[in-house]
Amino acid sequence: MDKRYYGEFGGQFVSESLMNTLSELDDAFEDAIKDPEFLKQVDYYLKQYVGRETPLYYAERLSEKYGTKIYLKREDLNHTGAHKINNVIGQILLAKRMGKTKVIAETGAGQHGVATATGAALFNMDCKVYMGAEDMERQKLNVLRMEMLGAEVVKVTSGSNTLKDATNEAIRNWTKDAEDTFYIMGSAVGPYPYPKMVKTFQSVISKEAKRQHMEVEGRNPDVVMACVGGGSNSIGMFAEFIDDPEVELIGVEAAGKGIETGMHASAFHGGEIGTLHGMKSYLLQDEDGNIKLAHSISAGLDYPGVGPEHAYLHDTGRAKYVAVTDDEAMDALMELCHLEGIIPAIESAHALAYAFKKAEEMTMDQSMIICLSGRGDKDVNTIADYLAGKGYMN
Ligand SMILES: *Cc1c(COP(=O)(O)O)cnc(C)c1O
Repeated sequence: MDKRYYGEFGGQFVSESLMNTLSELDDAFEDAIKDPEFLKQVDYYLKQYVGRETPLYYAERLSEKYGTKIYLKREDLNHTGAHKINNVIGQILLAKRMGKTKVIAETGAGQHGVATATGAALFNMDCKVYMGAEDMERQKLNVLRMEMLGAEVVKVTSGSNTLKDATNEAIRNWTKDAEDTFYIMGSAVGPYPYPKMVKTFQSVISKEAKRQHMEVEGRNPDVVMACVGGGSNSIGMFAEFIDDPEVELIGVEAAGKGIETGMHASAFHGGEIGTLHGMKSYLLQDEDGNIKLAHSISAGLDYPGVGPEHAYLHDTGRAKYVAVTDDEAMDALMELCHLEGIIPAIESAHALAYAFKKAEEMTMDQSMIICLSGRGDKDVNTIADYLAGKGYMN
């Protein structure tokens, strides 16, 4: 079996000149995760800098209202406000170990760019973040944050001037500079070994959650749920439960204005199998194989593909993938604000929206864990526009 594949998905669909770089990266990664010193370093920064472990919070009022035990894994409480920093800390420590002095990354909404710029400042690495011109305009505050942290934001003007173009540009530049440069991928996508690396570093979410749930309930949860953009918080939330068949795994994609309108970001409900960004997976594309623009009110779910392991979990039936609309997500967001005093990221609110539906078929003897991937401070402008009924850009 070729370890680079998850069933028929994954692989390394890159130019010949990158194959060597990827194989060096794979060797360095496999070596690092067997080294107790490296793992100790990752743990140290996750604890002292990121602020782990994050609580598994029993949402009492939600549970009462929806009639099943609802636990929230509070990734929103991490430094920089989301799960992305878990992965950045792991990859950047690996970059240091490999003797790299520069890091590059792609970013759409800017969340991964900010996390990368944060890690680069912490570990004294030169940092360039590729971002579509359109996204730079939409996410001015995150551009400023990255610059304050010392990163250079490289404006990408090609294609649709958004995330997929920024990713292409970042990969292209990495090909030229791989000698001293490490590419920090922001989700569980890309050519092997990225999907595995990102999963490894995000698995801390389910390692903690499984133990925390066991401590209170004395057993595994019945359902585990997370939103799916590229699939990093979800694969991190699923990881430790994949081999526990009694635990139902549910990934929630963005249905945008509705799957039938074509304005959505659901690779499983409106997509087909193809290759993009070095991997084979489910993608949004037209009949000619051109990538279609994804649409979601949440910038972080606005990616036209999904990580290859999710494609595999989907096709084997181990995990189920559903999609909720912008409106459903926004209702769930307001509900969490009002009932629990937590303003979630709009991305995370997608998982909540489906959790409330799923709860209808569950009882008070059962429990579910929802990954609250990030906090909603970054989204207040979007929320204000939405609530004012002005609609939103995209
Ligand atoms: C980026 C982001 C996501 C989506 O990315 P995944 O790789 O699918 O996890 C979800 N939630 C938040 C808060 C994000 O910033």
